[in-house]
Amino acid sequence: MKYFTSLVLLLFVIPVTGQKVSGNKKAILSSIEKHQDRLVQISDSIWALAETAFEETGSSKILADYAEANGFEVERGVAGMPTAFVATYGSGKPVISVLGEFDALPGISQKAQPTKSPLNEGAAGHGCGHNLFGTASLGAAIAVKELIASGKAKGTVKFFGTPAEEKFFGKIWMVKEGLWDDVDVNLSWHPSADTEADVQSTLALIDFKVEFFGQAAHASADPWNGRSASDALELYTAGINYYREHIKPTVRIHYHIQDGGQVVNVVPDYARLWVRVRDTKRSGMMPVYERVRAMAEGAAIMANVDYKISLISGIYEVLVNRAGGEVMQRNLELLGPITYTDEEMAFGRKIQEETGKPQVGMVSDIPPLKETKENPGGGSTDVGDVSWNVPNINLGVTVAPKDTPWHSWAVVACGGMSIGHKGMIQAAKALGMTMTDLFENPKLVEKIKAEYRERKGDEVYEPMIPEGPPPIGN
Ligand SMILES: [Zn+2]
Repeated sequence: MKYFTSLVLLLFVIPVTGQKVSGNKKAILSSIEKHQDRLVQISDSIWALAETAFEETGSSKILADYAEANGFEVERGVAGMPTAFVATYGSGKPVISVLGEFDALPGISQKAQPTKSPLNEGAAGHGCGHNLFGTASLGAAIAVKELIASGKAKGTVKFFGTPAEEKFFGKIWMVKEGLWDDVDVNLSWHPSADTEADVQSTLALIDFKVEFFGQAAHASADPWNGRSASDALELYTAGINYYREHIKPTVRIHYHIQDGGQVVNVVPDYARLWVRVRDTKRSGMMPVYERVRAMAEGAAIMANVDYKISLISGIYEVLVNRAGGEVMQRNLELLGPITYTDEEMAFGRKIQEETGKPQVGMVSDIPPLKETKENPGGGSTDVGDVSWNVPNINLGVTVAPKDTPWHSWAVVACGGMSIGHKGMIQAAKALGMTMTDLFENPKLVEKIKAEYRERKGDEVYEPMIPEGPPPIGN
């Protein structure tokens, strides 16, 4: 797909709409355009590496090295995670930070083409666009650094390299370490099929492992000597599935059977599931979690086996900040929608044809700032934990055609070519411009902080992770 890449680089400068853009924001835009080719290379390298949770050694290094080469002081291996890092430039207040993710998803390797075709059969792929996520955020941080270095802004900019978002949620350990304690406002974005200043929350979730321990025996010769761990597993999942009728519509319960025995002629003495409970609020999730935990004991009693429950990790719902969202909204409107070539639109429509969606191509128009829903749908993110410790501004930018199935080959395809690159550059610009507003306007920072304090109320943040080091190598 080099054809698309080279064609697009000529047309890459995203037009800024007629409204007045300040001198500092113009400097941000030209800095990002100056770094654009390198940012695309970085993103493509991370896309090709496609490293999964806590294995992102190469991806983390590429980003950390580029930050260092651009004058940031980089602390690697923070919070007990070799692939987590913090890049800092400047001194004093305000301290404004931006998040970068870079992990891939297993099993969805895909070429940068609009029909399903793995690049490496069975390998991982960037089905959530995190190759774009980390790179755009670093591009924004570098542009802000250049503003500080030129004397046009005062304060500190930080880039957080945050590993393992797709599994284990690395940010929790970074939050627990107090890495955002000195930050005034944090920014984040996520690759999307839409462009918007994101003022919706996400779902809180909690992950835990349930293990059953029985007694093995010959399944035919002496089954009366066996106590079956898989019987307990089946009774347990039956209990969960009966329970579904009595939970609120905002709750989700998932499980993944990781070990249900090995062969048909042995009464299994071991079985294991990964269980996940979600709700739109942590406060609603916890009672469901307690109930689903308790069911393991019931199943163990029925099957006459032992059981063990181990917490893996849990994340908070995102604490929305509308004052911050309004600033992001104004900057998105200044940038205007992304423009696409006919070839890119054809690429997008082909993906929509292949995935059974209306063939409308990419949509990056900026809708008015939405109302914040009390009970949003959708997924979960460890950005939630950051957002309960520092005010957070969130952004979604189009990197794939409308209605693209997420965590799929189609997102991998777009993230490795110009549709993804354009979204990445747009995100870097919107983040950089919004950070500029925060550096220029202390009253705005105070307003954002006041809303954060009001929304948080007297809730005391407690990281939902077990004692000990992060689960690296699991
Ligand atoms: Zn993601």
